[in-house]
Amino acid sequence: MSPPSLHASTHPLVAHKLALLRAKTTEPKQFRELVRELTWLLGYEAMADLATRPVEIETPLEPMIAARMEPKVGLIPILRAGLGMVDAMLELLPTAEVWHIGLYRDERTLKPVEYYNKLPDAATVQVCLILDPMLATGGSSAATVDILKTWGAARIKQVSLIAAPEGVVTLSAAHPDVDIHVAALDSHLNERGYIVPGLGDAGDRQFGTFAGPASEPGHGSDDETAEVVRRLQRDLER
Ligand code: URA
Repeated sequence: MSPPSLHASTHPLVAHKLALLRAKTTEPKQFRELVRELTWLLGYEAMADLATRPVEIETPLEPMIAARMEPKVGLIPILRAGLGMVDAMLELLPTAEVWHIGLYRDERTLKPVEYYNKLPDAATVQVCLILDPMLATGGSSAATVDILKTWGAARIKQVSLIAAPEGVVTLSAAHPDVDIHVAALDSHLNERGYIVPGLGDAGDRQFGTFAGPASEPGHGSDDETAEVVRRLQRDLER
């Protein structure tokens, strides 16, 4: 299972930082720093094929034709865990627009429901980078891509730190044109919707909210979540 749209980094620095990120002893401060550093590295890889246009400049020695990034880029962090990836991407792309999207999963229908979306009527960027540290079931990502395509985004990429095979299959089946850039493809989802071996809850680990109610994953009752995971795993076997 590895669709052509999946790009799992093979860079040793990415592997090194991801090992530190996964360790359960890593505290929120260092966790946030590592999310930021990994986002730089994955952002660099994810933007490797963006178009450039020639520009005339003058160096202190002579005029030359140099290159400028051509497309306007939008960053689409998925609330809340995607927030930790925004600043790092903005350091790479200071002129990028940031459009937040909030989705939760309806407990009855198990479908993602949009609760925050301030996108203007027509797309203002050509390339959208969806930022979500964990590509777990793929439901929120596929729904976000639906929203962005309706908006008029010409090109969409997903940037995540860790993906589960179930999420990759869901997203790439719904949107084979969306490139998926990750630091690692893990083994599977457990019955609570967590990526295994993963790193736990990326939101709680960034923001230190370990005492709060279980957020996504495990947003619904355990039985519902387990049933969704079983369905995704049946899809994987097809
Ligand atoms: N979201 C997380 O934060 N962690 C997982 O393992 C899956 C989804």
